[in-house]
Amino acid sequence: MKLLVTGGAGFIGSAVIRHIITNTRDEVVNLDKLTYAGNLESLAEVSDSGRYAFEQVDICNRAEVDRVLAQHRPDAIMHLAAESHVDRSIDGPADFIETNIVGTYTLLEATRQYWQELRGDKKDNFRFHHISTDEVYGDLPHPTETENAEEHLFTEDTAYAPSSPYSASKASSDHLVRAWRRTYGLPTLLTNCSNNYGPYHFPEKLIPLMILNALEGKPLPVYGKGDQVRDWLYVEDHARALYKVVTEGTPGETYNIGGHNEKQNIEVVHTICDILQELRPQQTSYRDLITTVKDRPGHDRRYAIDAGKIREELGWTPQETFETGIRQTVQWYLQNLDWCQRVQDGTYQRERLGEVV
Ligand code: NAD
Repeated sequence: MKLLVTGGAGFIGSAVIRHIITNTRDEVVNLDKLTYAGNLESLAEVSDSGRYAFEQVDICNRAEVDRVLAQHRPDAIMHLAAESHVDRSIDGPADFIETNIVGTYTLLEATRQYWQELRGDKKDNFRFHHISTDEVYGDLPHPTETENAEEHLFTEDTAYAPSSPYSASKASSDHLVRAWRRTYGLPTLLTNCSNNYGPYHFPEKLIPLMILNALEGKPLPVYGKGDQVRDWLYVEDHARALYKVVTEGTPGETYNIGGHNEKQNIEVVHTICDILQELRPQQTSYRDLITTVKDRPGHDRRYAIDAGKIREELGWTPQETFETGIRQTVQWYLQNLDWCQRVQDGTYQRERLGEVV
């Protein structure tokens, strides 16, 4: 089959494309605007496969989205393109409203027209898979607030209560996708996933930021007490789950995806420091670099996913525990410091598409 992946130059999108090209015989078209978060270097290992094509297109540009659909005629769409960084959404929400809400609306309308004109099996088997976050559900009781925190988990039926401009924009896009299913019958699938980590993660995010700052001897900034709880999932486990949903999921359904790896942020930072101490020993402790900074406004206290539905209905379970995944991630960053350097100094943007070599 031929899959159109939006946001395929980003962290999770590139993992999805690497997974599909490496493990299946499918073709992939990557539609990506290449914002600061898009990096084609994350796809270097698959871009010469003969089953991969790239289109530099903004999902808000209806004419260009129509052209790509007409030219490539995909069997399914996996929609990952988004503005994704919570802190950036607090500093400047406009791009989040534009891409996450208006862009998703534009893509849905283009897809609806494309799908309505399909015929036979191609129409019956077509899928539109919207990739979203567990942050749409707001936050859960923290272990310091209740004795039985572990009994409170996000399920597919949890009411939406987003806290940040990012999560509110993703919640809006989820509602649009559900409405296009109910009103127009578009064969949609929706997944809401917990925090991802792993290779090729942009260095502004918690885990790569901590690894790279520690290696440079810079402070490791932790919000507030660092006791916010996140449910971590290794990005390649997420990529496998997404492919399973788009190929085997039931249209109209929502699936929560999570690793059942609840960790306080401070525990994550300690783990990274300890692995670095072992792999890159130094006289002083990496933990001494940890500094606390003023907490993020509206910061969600705890996220945790019940992934029972995707496990029982589609047979997906994560292959990595947090302990194995975080070790592989630290090792990957140590082995790919050139990739990090090119992101941090902006080379990846200047040289993209062979503009300057
Ligand atoms: P990312 O920021 O790393 O990548 C986003 C990609 O989308 C980039 O390649 C960017 O160039 C592209 N893009 C942005 N605006 C665009 C536009 N207008 N048109 C076309 N392309 C555009 O994000 P990510 O972490 O890979 O997340 C991918 C998706 O998964 C997002 O929808 C996000 O909400 C969701 N998600 C992320 C996480 C996580 O932990 N990172 C968890 C759950 C869900």
